[in-house]
Amino acid sequence: MSAKIISGRAIGDEIRAELKQRIARLASVSNVTPGLATVLVGESPASQMYVGMKNQAAKELGLLSRQITLSSAVSGAELLGIVAGLNADPAIHGILVQLPLPDSIDESTVLEAIHPLKDVDGFHPMSVGRLATDSGDFFAPCTPAGVVEMLVRSGHDPAGKHVVVVGRSNLVGRPLASLLLRKGRGGDATVTVCHSRTRDLGAVTRTADILVVAMGRPEAITGDMVRPGAVVIDVGTHRVEDKTSPRGYRVCGDVLFDEVKEVAGAITPSPGGVGPMTITMLLANTVRSAERAAAEVRV
Ligand code: NAP
Repeated sequence: MSAKIISGRAIGDEIRAELKQRIARLASVSNVTPGLATVLVGESPASQMYVGMKNQAAKELGLLSRQITLSSAVSGAELLGIVAGLNADPAIHGILVQLPLPDSIDESTVLEAIHPLKDVDGFHPMSVGRLATDSGDFFAPCTPAGVVEMLVRSGHDPAGKHVVVVGRSNLVGRPLASLLLRKGRGGDATVTVCHSRTRDLGAVTRTADILVVAMGRPEAITGDMVRPGAVVIDVGTHRVEDKTSPRGYRVCGDVLFDEVKEVAGAITPSPGGVGPMTITMLLANTVRSAERAAAEVRV
C-alpha cells in the first residue's frame, strides 16, 4: 500500500494563512509591520536564489523585506558595522546573514554579532545553547523547526515515539534532535541520532516510528531500511543527472521515494516537502520577533 503524502506546501500554506492574521493584528493594534533583513555577501548563484526566495516570500506575506547585497570584497569590519546598524533599527525584527560567507570573513564572529532577539535563523550561540538546554526564549533554526511543525500538523506528534534522525549537522540533525527532546509541543520523543560512523544504519533506521533523513546522500534510504508503517521525513534535496528529463536533471531527496512510499505509512516528497517549510518558519520567526518587540513597546 502506498504511504500518505505529507505535503510541505499545504502545511506551509496553512501556517502562512495564520501568520497573515497575526500580521494584520500587529498592524491594527500596534501599527507594526514585521521587518526581515537579509544580507547576501558575494555572487554565489545558489545563495542569490535562496535569498531571493526568502525576500519574495516575505513580501508576499506582507512583511517589510530589506535585502542588502555586498560584494565578496567587503571586509569583516564593514559587515559587522552593517549588522550593528540592523540590530539598532526598530523597523527590523529579523536578521538573516546568508551562509556561507567568503573565506576572508569569520562566520562565527558575524553570527555572534546578530542580536539574539533578532536571530530568526537560530544560529547565534545563545539561541543554540537555549535550544540545547531547553531554557528561555529563542528562535529555532528554520529547517528542523519546519520538520517538527510538519509532524505535529500532519497528526504524527513525536511525543513518546522513537524518532531516528540520520545526520548530525549543526544546520539540521543536531538542532532537530534537541527540538524533539524538549518537553512539550513537538517534543518528548525518544531520539536516536545516526551519522557516517553509525554501524549498520539500516538496523537502526528500521527501529524508527518516525525516520528523519538529513544525510546529504541522494536516494540513500531504501525500502528495506524502513519499518512498515513508519513516518518518513526527507530533508535531503539534490539535483541529479537525468538524461530522460528535458532539463537534463531531476530533483530528489535522501530517500528513494518510489520504493520507500510502498513501505512507509506516511512520507514527505522532495521537492514539495521540507523545503517549503524552511522559508515558512523563517517568516514565522520574524512575525514572532515583531510581536515580542510590539509587546515590549506597549508595556
Ligand atoms: P551535512 O552537513 O553534509 O551533514 C550530513 C550528515 O549526514 C552528517 O552528519 C553525516 O555524518 C551524515 N551522513 C553522511 N553520510 C552518511 C551515511 N552514509 N550514513 C549515515 N550518516 C551519514 O548536510 P546538512 O546540511 O545537514 O543537509 C542534509 C541534507 O538536507 C542535504 O541534502 C541538504 O541539501 C538538505 N537540506 C535541505 C534543506 C531544506 O530546506 N530543504 C535545508 C538544509 C539542508 P558525519 O557527521 O559523520 O559526517
